[in-house]
Amino acid sequence: MGFDACGIAEIKELYSEAKQLEQWLKNGMHGKMYYMEKYFDIRINPALILPNAKSIISLLFGYYPKKKQSALELKISKYAYGKDYHFILKEKLFTLYEVLKEKIGNFNARAYVDTAPVMDKVWAKKSGLGWIGKHSNLIVKKSGSYYFIAELITDLNLNSDTEIKDYCGNCTRCIEACPTGAIIEPYIVDARKCISYLTIELKDELIPNEFKDKMSGWIFGCDICMDVCPWNKFATPHQHTELEAMPEILHFSKKDWEDLSEEQFKILFKHSPIKRSKFKGLKRNLKFVLTAIE
Ligand code: SF4
Ligand code: SF4
Repeated sequence: MGFDACGIAEIKELYSEAKQLEQWLKNGMHGKMYYMEKYFDIRINPALILPNAKSIISLLFGYYPKKKQSALELKISKYAYGKDYHFILKEKLFTLYEVLKEKIGNFNARAYVDTAPVMDKVWAKKSGLGWIGKHSNLIVKKSGSYYFIAELITDLNLNSDTEIKDYCGNCTRCIEACPTGAIIEPYIVDARKCISYLTIELKDELIPNEFKDKMSGWIFGCDICMDVCPWNKFATPHQHTELEAMPEILHFSKKDWEDLSEEQFKILFKHSPIKRSKFKGLKRNLKFVLTAIE
């Protein structure tokens, strides 16, 4: 199917992760992502999604791009350079499910790409695909963290892979590099301070003024903590033609972003993750970031 890695974990209730998630929510670090408060039971126990669920198959799909935005003032997170990964991966997962049924007989499964309350990074970690770094993203040893995660929750009783250890060691580069101090302590990100949240998830009219000089030019998402991570030195460009970068994203100047009309936005970003911020949100981000730059 073109996935870059695959791992399997036995489904069990996530006790320690449940405590951490509960505390994070209690501290309000999810900000206005109120959907995070919902389906807590399911989030910590995927067996509630599928009766008799036994194994979870986690799959990774690399998105580290060949060409990057070079020296542009206004930046877009690399994950949003091309088409929306949700559609690409969902289709692949369904095909994988069909192929597996052809090979081994009928079984039940649910396919997810960010579309259900499933702690995908935790399951990818439990499947031995990598560890969760201090910036809270999954890191694959020797190939970094620019991966989308997808999963099949199944009622198959599969052999599990072995978890690997955490290789962050004494490194604190991501914590030091974060311009807003969002990584409040190793492994804990306060979403309310994270540029990704501020530019994508926060739907308010305005971004809080305290972040004015801290956006570092990011108008959709932020890659700083991943870019500085030493493990991403090993990242190699993906070979997925479906994820090819849009030329506009690679070359849009400040003026191009400023001149972008709502009609152009709708056409240009019809299949892009950028449409999540909507035209109004993107213009809000642009205005906020530019007032700091100018
Ligand atoms: S994405 Fe950016 S703002 Fe968010 S934690 Fe990483 S460096 Fe900080
Ligand atoms: S920058 Fe260092 S501390 Fe942060 S995730 Fe990477 S290895 Fe871990």
